[in-house]
Formats: sequence, structure tokens, C-alpha cells
Amino acid sequence: MDMKIDIKRLRANIEGLAQFGRDPRGGISRPSFSQADIEAQAWLKDRILEAGLSHRRDGAGNTFGRLGGEGRAVLVGSHIDTVLNGGPFDGAAGVMAALECLGRIKEAGPLPAKPLELVSFTDEEGNLVGDFLGSRAFAGLLNREEVEKGITCFGRPLGEVLAGTGFSPETILSAHRERPEYEAYLELHIEQGATLETEDIPVGIVERIAGKVYRQCSFVGKAQHGGTTPLELRQDAFLATADFAIKATQLVATKHYGSMITVGKVAVQPGSFSVVPGRVDFTLDLRSASAETLEELDRETQALATDIAHTRGVAFFSRTIDRTVPVALSSRIVGIMEEECRRLSYPSLRMTSGAGHDAQIVSGLTEAGMIFIPCQDGISHAPDEMINWEDLEKGANLLLRALLRLAG
Ligand SMILES: [Zn+2]
Repeated sequence: MDMKIDIKRLRANIEGLAQFGRDPRGGISRPSFSQADIEAQAWLKDRILEAGLSHRRDGAGNTFGRLGGEGRAVLVGSHIDTVLNGGPFDGAAGVMAALECLGRIKEAGPLPAKPLELVSFTDEEGNLVGDFLGSRAFAGLLNREEVEKGITCFGRPLGEVLAGTGFSPETILSAHRERPEYEAYLELHIEQGATLETEDIPVGIVERIAGKVYRQCSFVGKAQHGGTTPLELRQDAFLATADFAIKATQLVATKHYGSMITVGKVAVQPGSFSVVPGRVDFTLDLRSASAETLEELDRETQALATDIAHTRGVAFFSRTIDRTVPVALSSRIVGIMEEECRRLSYPSLRMTSGAGHDAQIVSGLTEAGMIFIPCQDGISHAPDEMINWEDLEKGANLLLRALLRLAG
């Protein structure tokens, strides 16, 4: 079968969706359940119906478009919410590619043996109450407290944000009860890194999604006069932090190359020109594709911080904010995708995703696979997020082939 997607139509749909949530401060701001999202959802519903699919939303606001009858469907999609001042491709490329594939299959007929279903998951970006609200609701992995007590990016609890939308914390918490069984899940997404672009490869086939440990840490020393306190008598919390950031990064680079460490947010107190920093609060983001390495990395960096605190006469505090385990995607689907890449003569690369995706949640329910396409300079979550349309065409053609294989 030599069916191909229509890149012109796919591009028009991505550009159409990008009209919703344009932010005067730059890029696209389209959190789930915002006015922009409500308008985008109405637009998406029209596109789903236009493609000949049946439209429905579950209690978490996840949107579905089904092609074919009863039975276990192959699910395919991503998310249409964005971070604040995000770009037009993160998530949107996957949902629109799924729509293009299903529309194409419907046009070409006859339908494959198994049904196909498009999905756009709610709040993948975590603007509301933590990452993956929609897919976690779908999988039944939410706890009541986070849904009822969490403060959203709108500065109000989720229950208030949902008022008048037809959804509520209760419908979100019970969304998984209406979930049918699925055959498999596929997701196309921009890479959010620069590997594919650097290697000049149009498609990545994701084997694993890295796990992470997020910690909130502090070094606490003494705020003293910068003009009068001799260097050897200082308890400088900033120097401890700088020392830690460099040594911990060296540790990862030399002993656990391929894993990631980022000290991304640092607050120095009192933060005055001539005062020795008495306290520094900072975030620590550790990621690895291996659960053992991640554990080791966490232990070693905590020990290193304790050591540095001791040497520099400051105290070290740390607490875990979030922790996810690495997830292996389906090796059968990786194999199918590699075969189809060979048939299509597309160079491909097996990859680990350092960023989180709905696929890691859905992989707990059914076999999951992911396709990455390059994004320019590895930029995502920013107004200048950009792709090459030829890469998207290849990624979407691969998605189409993989769907047809999985749906028999
Ligand atoms: Zn995304």
C-alpha cells in the first residue's frame, strides 16, 4: 500500500490551530480550559467531524475522534495545550498529524480491521495541577487532593477555573471509568533537543523516556559584611552552590554520561551588593533512562552536597518535589517503525526522550510508541519553536504506516 499524507493540509491545520491563543507578549499561550483553548477545542471538533470521525470528550476534557466501529482501537495523538508563550508545534504537531493520518485512511478506504482513535490530552504541560493531567486522569492515576487543592497557572484552584466549562474536579477524577480498552498508542512529537538536527536525521524512534528526580535544595550559611569579613571566616552559601553545581555536573559528565543534571533556578539571599550570601535556594533536576543510574545519581549528588556543606561551614537541606521512573516503550513498535523507515527510505535513529510525554503515562495501559521529528536548534516551549515541513511530512508518513500495521 502506498498511501501518503497530505503535507499541505497538515500544515494548514497546524497553522490554523496556531491562531488560537496568540499572545501579545510573544508565541502562543493556550493552557487547557483557557478561553483560547475553548475556542481551539471548538475548531478541533469541526476538523474531527470534517475528517469523518466521531467526536467525543471524556470527563477530563480529553478529546477523541474515532474512525471505525467497536473493539480495541489504536489510539494516536498528543496534546494541544501549550506552556505560556510557547510555540505552534509542541503537541499540536502530533494531534494534527494524527488527524491527517485518520482523515487520509478514511478517504482512501476500506478501513483497517481495528478501529483508530485520535486523542488530544488535556493539560500535558502542567499549567493546572502538575504534568499530564489529562493522560493521568485517563489512566486513573490522579489523587483527589492534587485535583481539589492544586493552584493553577491562573492563580485559582482548578474547581474555579472549570466553572461553566461542563467539567469539574469530580468529572476529571472519574474520567478513567469510561475508558475503553486500547490496542496500542502512538504519538508524534517534536524532539525538543538538537540531536536529530545535528545528525541530519529526519525521524527519531523513541525507545525509552527518561525518569527524573526533582529536588528543592538550600545551602544556609551566614550573611556577613562583604567589606569586613575575611574570606576564611565566611560561610558563603553561594560559593557552596557554585561549587556543588560544577562538581555535580562533572560527576554526571564523567561517571554517568548520557544522564542529565540541571541547576535551573537559583535564589540568593539577601541578594545585596556587599553582603556575603547567607542562603541560596536552588532546584536540582536529575534525569536518566536507567532507574538504577537515577537512584545512584540522586544518592551521589546528595552526598556531594553534604560534603561541600561540611567543607564550607554551611548547612545543606533538600527535599524531593517529584520523582518518575524511566519508561521503556514497546520494542515491537520500535521494530515496526524501523521496518517502515527502511521501506520509505527514511534514515532514522533510536532515541531516549529526556522530556516527559503523555506516552509514558499511556504506556502503563497499552503498548506505546513515539516518533520524534527535529526542531530547529532544539528550541521548544518558546515563540521561535520551528520545524522543517519535509521532516514533519516524513514523520507523519511513518505514523500513517505504523498505524496501518498496528490496525491490521
Ligand atoms: Zn509536548
